Amino acid sequence: MAVSGAIVVGPDALGRSVAIADGRVVAVPPAAAGRLACADGMIEAGAVCAHTHLYSGLARYGMPPAHPPPAGFVEILQKVWWRLDRALDARSLRAAAYDYVARALIAGTTTLVDHHESPNLIEGSLAILVEACETLGVRALVCYGASERNFGRDEGRRGLAECRRVAASPLVRGLVGLHASFTVSDATAREAGALARELGTVVHVHVAEAQADVDDARRRGAAGPLERLFSLGALPPGSILAHGVHLDRAQVRRAADARCWFVHNPRSNEGNRVGYAAALSATERAALGADGWDADMAEEEAALERLARENGDAGVDGRLAAGQALAAERFGAQAEPLAPGSLGDLVVRRDGAVRHVVVGGRVVVENGALATGDFDSIVATARVEATRLWSRMAAI
Ligand SMILES: [Zn+2]
Repeated sequence: MAVSGAIVVGPDALGRSVAIADGRVVAVPPAAAGRLACADGMIEAGAVCAHTHLYSGLARYGMPPAHPPPAGFVEILQKVWWRLDRALDARSLRAAAYDYVARALIAGTTTLVDHHESPNLIEGSLAILVEACETLGVRALVCYGASERNFGRDEGRRGLAECRRVAASPLVRGLVGLHASFTVSDATAREAGALARELGTVVHVHVAEAQADVDDARRRGAAGPLERLFSLGALPPGSILAHGVHLDRAQVRRAADARCWFVHNPRSNEGNRVGYAAALSATERAALGADGWDADMAEEEAALERLARENGDAGVDGRLAAGQALAAERFGAQAEPLAPGSLGDLVVRRDGAVRHVVVGGRVVVENGALATGDFDSIVATARVEATRLWSRMAAI
């Protein structure tokens, strides 16, 4: 039974109940509130995936490997992701988004901070993502990552214009996206910052993910990508900087002092062999992201803990809490999860497994199953669209 509107979840095994009305946790539930019992479960705050790419949702369905294998980070982008993103059309993007969101919710992730690019489908692409997020019921921050890497300045302008089209809703907020310093001109970076200020939002951008981004910024006369973006006014307070692998602790602190958030993506960084983001432990404003991998934040946190041990990094506590604070900031909610005034997003686990998921007071996963869509049919569509996408990709 799916319940929407006002709801009381609990009491759980510890006797705790959480009431949600109008999307927020409330101290006193309305009389007509529905109930979700969980006497044998444990209520916890929903997880936030603070940087990801819904467009990569079909990669799990047999994406062909690149031949010959990419030699480094920029080749991984050129041979894999920048071909996949150019091959996307409306059908494949919709299928990717539904599959990615469904799996995220089932894993107990209640907010996705997405960074989108589909250069041959810019206009209207964010509406497809928003529709998937709202239908299945995940909270989302969305943006188009403006870039000039395919079609030049006009591509950058069209990317920013797409960011402007996102209307705020109870579950969705728009951000302004830049792909990364190394694929945008000064003018596009400047315009991104100005647009974010005009819209009352922030910029979401990849920063110093690999050494190539640093080298490029130096060639342009800046100390690095962070300094370049700051000097162009592209990082308003609250902006979201994915990666920061090739930054030092002083740079991280400076950006955090300017109220920026960082997002550590341990599995992605390991997979792309770009290094370990050791300097992020210089701030508490570092959240956790999946960067296109499954948005299962328990898996991501386990990878973080493993890599932190291997790298002698003792400063990785609180990354999931930082993601919750980031989401609360963008939605203007109380930052302490499950407290009155916070976002009405929670998970009930039993024996560690996700049983129920509630987002904004709507039950989106019940007894471990997606309650807001037909998971089997989402997967079947994704398989069909993936096959079509791989043949489109082969032609690029
Ligand atoms: Zn990314």
